[in-house]
Amino acid sequence: MLLAHKIELRPTVEQAVYLDKACGSHRHCYNQLLEHFSKKDNKWSKQAAYQFYIKVIRPQFDWYTEVSSRVTRNAIDDLDNAFKHFFRRVKAKQKAGFPQFKRKGVKDSFALREKAKFDVNGRFLRIEKLKTEIKMRQKLRFDGQTKQVTISKRAGKYFASILVETQEYNPKDIERKSSIGVDFGIKALATLSNGVVFDANQKLRTNLKKLRKLQKNLSRKTKSSNRRVRAKLKLAKFHFRVSNQRQAVLHKLSDYLTANFERIVIEDLHVKGMIKNHSLALSISDAGFGNLRQQIEYKAKLRNCKLVIADRFFPSSKTCSNCGSINKDLTLSDRIYSCNCGLELDRDLNAAINLNNYGVDRLQPTKKRT
Ligand SMILES: [Zn+2]
Repeated sequence: MLLAHKIELRPTVEQAVYLDKACGSHRHCYNQLLEHFSKKDNKWSKQAAYQFYIKVIRPQFDWYTEVSSRVTRNAIDDLDNAFKHFFRRVKAKQKAGFPQFKRKGVKDSFALREKAKFDVNGRFLRIEKLKTEIKMRQKLRFDGQTKQVTISKRAGKYFASILVETQEYNPKDIERKSSIGVDFGIKALATLSNGVVFDANQKLRTNLKKLRKLQKNLSRKTKSSNRRVRAKLKLAKFHFRVSNQRQAVLHKLSDYLTANFERIVIEDLHVKGMIKNHSLALSISDAGFGNLRQQIEYKAKLRNCKLVIADRFFPSSKTCSNCGSINKDLTLSDRIYSCNCGLELDRDLNAAINLNNYGVDRLQPTKKRT
């Protein structure tokens, strides 16, 4: 199974110069090829592109050799993909976008796809023709064979997306419990049926608020003014910080769930997102929910857990987890679920227990719950 982990890099000034040069060579070579093959008589093929690169482009630009030779080869591959995409759309009679020239500062990147050209060693990344190793902010999350690295630069920061071929992703012999229900809430990020609560990250919450403020600020600034450009960069930088923070929160939760339980029962997050939209946005933002489900899904697969998603009409919040009766009048502001049968329970915990029971009922219809 191939898995990608994107890690922020901490290059020294010298290393950043190398990375910029590599991005520059990639962009330059891509544009040179595109210019040539945009002309009417020059029909694109990867073979023709390679010949043109060897005979015409490379001899002109010595500075390509200052970075790994794979960087410019990678530009050929990328342009080949762009053309293939274009031809496919033309053939299908769809609106076809001809490959575009790359601009400096817009999606700067390059990839190394051969094992020998890069290496990951703990928190260090080695790249061909760079004498020193680049420090990474984190270690690789997965064990296995590294397949390729894509370096990108966004908002002045550098990232390495590393693709790893991994065999297994099983936690080290933890004895797993059979089942857990998870309620995603407003106050807490998640409440689990065993009583464990994952609090909403306060820092993240504050930053999401700040992010919205910055976005508003930007829209007030005059178009193409210097202040707007500055505000835009500031926003982009901050956006990255927040999205990294969010990733960390989501990984912690999805790791805990998939490492400790054989079956995980969650709600249909899409529906939940729509209903509680505004309030949920406060804990991890809308984009976070799709992401969270993806993370739980792939980790569940890797760790051999069963993920059960409750039917969208299952009333997990409104059902009494003790007697099963339904309280139709429950509103979002009721924090405690109380029932005529005597049950008084935190509403999120009640919902989580219902979800856990839902999983038991659905998979073993004849088994009585305890
Ligand atoms: Zn009851």
